[in-house]
Amino acid sequence: MWVLTTQISVEESLTVSRIPNGYVFDHLSAGKTLLAYRLLEIPPEVSVLIAMNVPSEKYGKKDILKIETEPYALDSEKLNRIALISPHTTVNVIKNSKVIEKFSVEIPERITDIYNCPNPTCFSNARGPEYEKRTGHMSEPVEPDFSVIDTGDAVKLRCRHCQRIFDGENLSFVTK
Ligand SMILES: [Zn+2]
Repeated sequence: MWVLTTQISVEESLTVSRIPNGYVFDHLSAGKTLLAYRLLEIPPEVSVLIAMNVPSEKYGKKDILKIETEPYALDSEKLNRIALISPHTTVNVIKNSKVIEKFSVEIPERITDIYNCPNPTCFSNARGPEYEKRTGHMSEPVEPDFSVIDTGDAVKLRCRHCQRIFDGENLSFVTK
């Protein structure tokens, strides 16, 4: 009788797709990987490996994101953006296939130029030819700017222009 031995443990499967240099983001909340990838603003030519819905002892299911790049290519401001959508994420910095540093992401106090304010009458949205016609003023672009509020189980964002508070998820990204 044949015995199937193709089933490999999670640990082994992670080793198989080991990257030489870059980052491994572990304990990403399941389903948040593509959003994390977007927040990191990874250039399109960079190699990326994604594992979704991997069993996790702590959280049931998790995602894993691996980015092949120079170690320390991403600054802490970008890395900490991930805490907005997945606060338990750990960052492993990889050099020559070894983890040289491991740390947790931290919720930033303030974020600028990532999300648009959803309030259509917000000052940050009031720009362009329509505004100039109505007011006679030239409209310099206004950078979206949010204070981050950590409520314990969810992150909320307060727009520093209109003071309105929004859920930290499902906001539209600034076009760059
Ligand atoms: Zn606003």
